[in-house]
Amino acid sequence: MIEYQHTLKSSVSVQGTGLHTGQYGTITFVPAPPNHGIKFKRIDLPGHPIVEALVENVVDTSRGTTLHKNGATIYTMEHALAALTGLGIDNVLIELDVEEIPILDGSSRQFVDAFEQVGYIAQDTEREYLIIDKEIRFVDKEKGSEMIITPCDAYKIDVKIDYGTEVLNIQFAELHNITDFKKEISPCRTFVFLHELEFLLKNNLVKGGDLSNAIVFVNRKVSQEELDRLAELFHKPKVKVKDEGILNNLDLHFDNEPARHKLLDVMGDLTLIGKPLKGHITAIRPGHYANTELAKLIKQQIKNQ
Ligand SMILES: [Zn+2]
Repeated sequence: MIEYQHTLKSSVSVQGTGLHTGQYGTITFVPAPPNHGIKFKRIDLPGHPIVEALVENVVDTSRGTTLHKNGATIYTMEHALAALTGLGIDNVLIELDVEEIPILDGSSRQFVDAFEQVGYIAQDTEREYLIIDKEIRFVDKEKGSEMIITPCDAYKIDVKIDYGTEVLNIQFAELHNITDFKKEISPCRTFVFLHELEFLLKNNLVKGGDLSNAIVFVNRKVSQEELDRLAELFHKPKVKVKDEGILNNLDLHFDNEPARHKLLDVMGDLTLIGKPLKGHITAIRPGHYANTELAKLIKQQIKNQ
């Protein structure tokens, strides 16, 4: 059976604030012709520079995945890319009037909703998969990450995380059928530890966080005074730690929501290969660095064939 490339039926926009820059912006997903792939266009900059969603353009992976080309930077694009891959949308031009994709609720859900609202259509060109024919592995001993992709006739991902703390220990997540993405993976939100959050807030690194778009794990004792200060920072009347060791800003969608979110990030980052994949990924303690390094190795291997 021939599988065709897909694009959106019409343009659709989402609006929101960037997690790291705090900038409020509008992101418009525009239908694109076959073999166009996914590209970003900074319509707020002179000459409207284009940045292809390709791993060659990755310049930083410290707090999210950042692309840069032609004087244009695109921050935190991974959740939007995961939504495109999850729904099988191959070709789209993403216009933005800021340098960061909005964090929205910290997951891919609102992107999925936007794409489904306008719908997507098959184009008259066959989809070309990148087929993995032998194992490729990336190991980061320092971080304890290991990324493996093995041959498989479908796109499958298994994730294991292990933060070694009482509140967030070993968790697993899997996606063995891409049609499960929308329900099982797309609503899963990003997470942070309270001590990271405090560091980020103090150093002015998280600006769009309003305590509704991240699961916050608390892995040490916090005084009421600290909680009151957090409540103030986040403009909430009251903040407390729930039994599961998370702040009461939200309820978990799944017990293993953090592992599922890491899977979502793997999908988003591997989209930067530029072609849909057929292969089985096993990701142990994945992160944006490990994910994008695997993407580079996969591209390299293919080039060498
Ligand atoms: Zn993420």
